[in-house]
Amino acid sequence: MMLGSILFTAFTFNRYYAYMGLNRIGNIYRYAFWLAGIGLLVCFIRSKSKPQLAPSILSSENITNKDKNKTNTSFKDIAGLEEIKEELQETIDFINNSSKYRKMGARIPQGVLFYGPPGTGKTLLAKAVAGETKSTFLYASGSEFVEKYVGVGAKRVRTLFEKAKKEAPSIIFIDEIDAIGTRRNLESNNEKDQTLNQLLVEMDGFNTDETIIVIGATNRLDLLDEALLRPGRFDRHIYVGNPNMKARKKILEVHTKNKPLDSSVNILDIAKKTHGLSGADLANIANEAAIIAVRNNKVRVSIDHFDAAIERVLAGLEIKNPTVLLKEKRTIAVHEAGHALVSKILKIDMVQKISIIPRGQSLGYVLKFPEEDRYLLTKQELLNKISALLAGRAAEELVFNEITTGAKDDLDKATDLARKMVCNYGMSSLGHMAMDEEHIKHNYDVLRVEIKNILDRGYRDALKILKENKDILHRISDTLMEEETIDSKKLDEIFEMYKKPIDCAT
Ligand code: ATP
Repeated sequence: MMLGSILFTAFTFNRYYAYMGLNRIGNIYRYAFWLAGIGLLVCFIRSKSKPQLAPSILSSENITNKDKNKTNTSFKDIAGLEEIKEELQETIDFINNSSKYRKMGARIPQGVLFYGPPGTGKTLLAKAVAGETKSTFLYASGSEFVEKYVGVGAKRVRTLFEKAKKEAPSIIFIDEIDAIGTRRNLESNNEKDQTLNQLLVEMDGFNTDETIIVIGATNRLDLLDEALLRPGRFDRHIYVGNPNMKARKKILEVHTKNKPLDSSVNILDIAKKTHGLSGADLANIANEAAIIAVRNNKVRVSIDHFDAAIERVLAGLEIKNPTVLLKEKRTIAVHEAGHALVSKILKIDMVQKISIIPRGQSLGYVLKFPEEDRYLLTKQELLNKISALLAGRAAEELVFNEITTGAKDDLDKATDLARKMVCNYGMSSLGHMAMDEEHIKHNYDVLRVEIKNILDRGYRDALKILKENKDILHRISDTLMEEETIDSKKLDEIFEMYKKPIDCAT
């Protein structure tokens, strides 16, 4: 396209001069235009033949203003994660007072690797290290180095490290490092191997005098090449997990700091209701609550706005004017009532809300949260979880003597849990053993029987509970048909009506 325009311009000017009869002065200008055209053409071809630089920091080679890569983020912006901040203090001190360490012959830690689920604050921590040390923050995503042309990724790695050296002290942050750092024998991708080799070489040789720290982040530590993890490269591996209740409270406080909250909002209650969510989810909930308040023309954010935001984040967008058939609506009501009833009787989490208003991809849902953060679960608790998951289908069978496709997601989750019980937790009749992928592949028939036994047991237990409490099941599903949602208070009232002691867990 550009090539065409250059040639066209040169040609047009030549024709123009010829047409205007300007041949007297024309020859000189004509040659000048042709030369300019050819010059532009050469530049264009050269720029095309150069490997294209990736869009983020890698393409900003000619940024002269160092401050463009500075960050104002500090540890104050990060809630919780106290032990990680403490661990990073030493690294920060290394950069801030490097001479002190050099005099003692200590070498600066080469690299820090953050690993853990998405949205837990890994990028934020890396930025804070840069902010606390007033270092240049160079962000690159692993996928930016992945190219099909051999050598391009490696060149980008070189460019990145050269830039870091020029702007030291600096923090190189490589997000999704697994995109280039997966074990080399797993696949024979020449380009990827070269990129990883280049990264290893750079990490070996870059820190003679400069104060540069490389921080990597990944959700899959298990996939990374051993060479990348060995001491001298990514020396320190730090797990960044989902926040516990105290940390969730602090994160919510950070993200509601600049929002006008009304007196109904109790941050601790919100923290309790958001078990298992990441820092990014919590930031999203706080923001969503503010947006909902604005949408409702309110000047303060209330607890109702937060509840709506939690539901939005956990269950998806509410579908307005759904076209669910009446018969299907009845099935959904019975299905969700089954989940809620068995969850409550087996005391699987606190049931907050049951709804048959479709949201996202689900036609109905039960919102429930554990009462407290749990780190260990017993075998019986896992079996109970499976019963609660299969209770939707069991309720359909009990009431309609027929089952539907609505249990797909429940079946996935229950089967996954049962598989973990057999293969990871040693909780089957095969004994106290864990199995790796190879073992699983060769013994799948035996494992399948074990998994099936667990699921059958869970289903049987769910069906038994539902049969014994059929009257409550009908009451919950009828109420859902009338009111579409039931909150925890209403559910307690229903149980109270039938005088069922709520703590009748097996
Ligand atoms: P990914 O693995 O998906 O790249 P990540 O672990 O790098 O995610 P971040 O990008 O650091 O996650 O976090 C996303 C957002 O979540 C942050 O910008 C911030 O708003 C919020 N957040 C996460 N953790 C915290 C925390 N501990 N304190 C305050 N905010 C947090």
